[in-house]
Amino acid sequence: MSDQVSIKVVDAFDLDDELRSLLKPGEMMRDPEGRRHRLPRYFYEIPDHEAAVSIRLSHHFGLNEFILTDLKEAPRLLQFPRYVPCAVRVLAFYLEQFRREIGASVHIAVNGAYRSPSHKLSQTATPHMWATAADIYRIGTTILRGKESIEKYNGIAEDLSDDIHVLPYGHVTGLNADDHVHIDLGYITVIPREISEDRMEVPQENRPRFAFEERRRRERRNVPETEG
Ligand SMILES: [Zn+2]
Repeated sequence: MSDQVSIKVVDAFDLDDELRSLLKPGEMMRDPEGRRHRLPRYFYEIPDHEAAVSIRLSHHFGLNEFILTDLKEAPRLLQFPRYVPCAVRVLAFYLEQFRREIGASVHIAVNGAYRSPSHKLSQTATPHMWATAADIYRIGTTILRGKESIEKYNGIAEDLSDDIHVLPYGHVTGLNADDHVHIDLGYITVIPREISEDRMEVPQENRPRFAFEERRRRERRNVPETEG
């Protein structure tokens, strides 16, 4: 992480019309139970593939692992710069705890982390649209297919924290078949500290509205502690 550059944070209301219509910042969306949730507004902007590969969100998880999508995602959102809600770092933190608990690598499926509201699998609100869910298809060398392995890892994930929610074996088809562990943290929206929330929800001319995330760990080590 030594040469890591700060990640740019954008207010999605400032993006162009097409991106706004695809990311739907601040819009309400219903979950399968009919409850409404407000979609995230603040995103990390990933300039290119190199940045996606080099930026680490936690010790073992790179940003690129959370934006692996295929053509089910809207074509414009597959082009760089790409956007992922800032809550993705919270997800990476929990996955890091999960990885440590099981002592093996954790592999996220294609379309298994952030999915925009315009992704073909985004029919109703799911935490995937908040970047707070991950579908894990392999742990270490174990491909997750059987009921036994999926239930085992579901249990380990649930025991880690009450923040973690898993879906039961067979949740995809409702049939006796499944190929991943789904872990989510619910509808967490992160408002980065660098952002001022008094801004209007419409694009404003001549006012750049983005920030760069402060480098946290490294700089804190060199400056006197100012926060309690
Ligand atoms: Zn899922």
